[in-house]
Amino acid sequence: MYIILLGAPGAGKGTQAALLSEKRKLTHVATGDLFRQALEKGDELGLKAKSYMEKGKLVPDEITIQMVLNRLAAPDCKSGVLLDGFPRNLEQAKVLDKALAQQDKAIDKAVYIKVSEGELLKRLSGRWICRNCQTPYHEVTSPPKARGKCDKCGGELYQRPDDTVETVKKRLEVYFAQTAPLIEYYTGAGKLLEVSGEGSPEEIYGRIVSALKPKK
Ligand code: AMP
Repeated sequence: MYIILLGAPGAGKGTQAALLSEKRKLTHVATGDLFRQALEKGDELGLKAKSYMEKGKLVPDEITIQMVLNRLAAPDCKSGVLLDGFPRNLEQAKVLDKALAQQDKAIDKAVYIKVSEGELLKRLSGRWICRNCQTPYHEVTSPPKARGKCDKCGGELYQRPDDTVETVKKRLEVYFAQTAPLIEYYTGAGKLLEVSGEGSPEEIYGRIVSALKPKK
């Protein structure tokens, strides 16, 4: 099974992907995490992506697509994948469809998590993430039990450098211009499932699970 999580930065894709991948035994592939890990290791890929990420811009397709196709070829992706943060424009969506078709595979569903712009800004500005396991927290709505420490693994929490007000605005602008058209693309393909991304993570997860249930 191949599921795409679509939605603006701050819509809760990472949180929902963590819940879904655990319960459905799907491998979570998050392009933002792959870039950040490469950067942390000092890999060439991370260094190439750094300047785009800092500005809230998309990393060029030739870099991103190759990275994702390599990741999808790994053994842990054979039985199913949850894509988070990819595709982010029409070109990426078309290349992905083509690459999967060559292996007689296809995207099953694209789950669009819809959140208002005001709410997105609020969420991104208070976000903290575990450096070790990437679990997201929010200062106000979902704080960790101990300040600066991940509830799940005890890892150190940090604020992403691209979660500053200016970069967040740019990321949202890029989302509406380049990524939002994918909603139409997957609607046209009969694969889009839209769920409200407002409410608690558990409520949103429940909506996603019921949207994914096969309709009789
Ligand atoms: P995210 O963690 O998904 O918010 O992604 C953080 C940053 O990584 C984005 O602002 C982009 O600079 C880059 N990025 C992540 N996914 C993609 C993608 N599919 N295409 C291009 N750039 C990406």
